Amino acid sequence: MPIHFNDLDVISEAAGLKSALIVPCNMCPAVTVAVREKKPFMQLFRSLLKSLPFEQYIRELQSRLSEQGVVTKVFRSNLYHQWFMCMWTSAQRKKLQEAVKLYEAVIVLGCDSATETVSDAVRSKDCKVIEGMEVAGIMNATLRFHLPCNVSFDDCKIIPISQ
Ligand code: SF4
Repeated sequence: MPIHFNDLDVISEAAGLKSALIVPCNMCPAVTVAVREKKPFMQLFRSLLKSLPFEQYIRELQSRLSEQGVVTKVFRSNLYHQWFMCMWTSAQRKKLQEAVKLYEAVIVLGCDSATETVSDAVRSKDCKVIEGMEVAGIMNATLRFHLPCNVSFDDCKIIPISQ
């Protein structure tokens, strides 16, 4: 099951910046947000390629950063095989390398492996890497399909990761 996260204080970390690229991993963080908000992870009739609670979460993050004067853009990984940042293709990694050139910072929504993917892309560039989430544990849950065409996670427990 996916990793479960707590949010970190991105707003403080981004203080003083003018621009940042938000790079979300679309799997574990999206499941985390859906579970936290008790909403379906996917609503396939409404959106085939996006988890709507996570989209809303990202929009709210952008809005809070904008209030602090930080202009943001989201680096999109819409195709299913690009959802897992720990397993990105070389093409997607190169695309990120190009995209980060325009920003002072990158905000990563994902685990340490997602941060590693970003760190590789920004290596040798003057670009701050900000982690937007921290690992809380591993989720244990029941996958449920329900009408009209939703995918949810029920009976969630967060299992601590052994040291
Ligand atoms: S990069 Fe991390 S958060 Fe994203 S799918 Fe892989 S393990 Fe999950």
